[in-house]
Amino acid sequence: MRKKIIAGNWKMNKTPSEAKALAEAIVTKAEGASCDVVICPTAICIPAAVEATKGSNVAVGAQNVHFKESGAYTGELAANMLTEAGVKYVIIGHSERRQYFGETDETVNLRTKAALAAGLLPIVCVGESLTEREQGIMDDTVRRQTKIALLGVSAEDAKKVTIAYEPVWAIGTGKTATADQADEVCGIIRETVKTLYGSEVSDVIRIQYGGSMNAGNAAELLAKPNIDGGLIGGASLKPDDFAVIIGAAK
Ligand code: PEP
Repeated sequence: MRKKIIAGNWKMNKTPSEAKALAEAIVTKAEGASCDVVICPTAICIPAAVEATKGSNVAVGAQNVHFKESGAYTGELAANMLTEAGVKYVIIGHSERRQYFGETDETVNLRTKAALAAGLLPIVCVGESLTEREQGIMDDTVRRQTKIALLGVSAEDAKKVTIAYEPVWAIGTGKTATADQADEVCGIIRETVKTLYGSEVSDVIRIQYGGSMNAGNAAELLAKPNIDGGLIGGASLKPDDFAVIIGAAK
């Protein structure tokens, strides 16, 4: 049995004081949850979120990590800076970073390896664009992204990775993949992991769905056999909605 994981991607929202209040509200709502719960604020809000979640079952994640240990990389954060700040998870290769900040499959791989080396748990995002889905090449896209992200990652480390299947056309658009569509692609990702490592890893690795998951559709998505949780954007900023999603992840 894979424990489900519900992670909130707060994107570029909330000031530190607002983040503190939101984290405190989520801590209260997540008490007794049967899944892993993660909140991913902006870097400047990480100390407030870590403080607010201390002693709770809510973990803090970052939204990105650089692959070098230190040096002349203005504006970037190294993995050991995040761990020292109390961060446990890190989102890597989100489609917004791929779209707006030049993230490539290769840099996703470098970041994944740097995160694992520092003891962070990566949440690696993959997913096809609308054009790729329409062209019928979505399988090729998610297979390629998954394989390159995991290049050079040992089987033991691969078990610590969560893969988030996020079809780009469903992120922040209100369009959700149907539960069957999402389950099918999460299944393709699991098969890909099996070809790389065997079932020892593919049975254990967690694969989330992300893309307009909300309080209304979470239960159906999370009931699917290949969907082990959700990466949630918009709805993770609303504690009541996020609580419903956490409750649906049994
Ligand atoms: C995301 O940012 O990863 C995401 C899935 O956003 P939303 O839930 O708003 O579509």
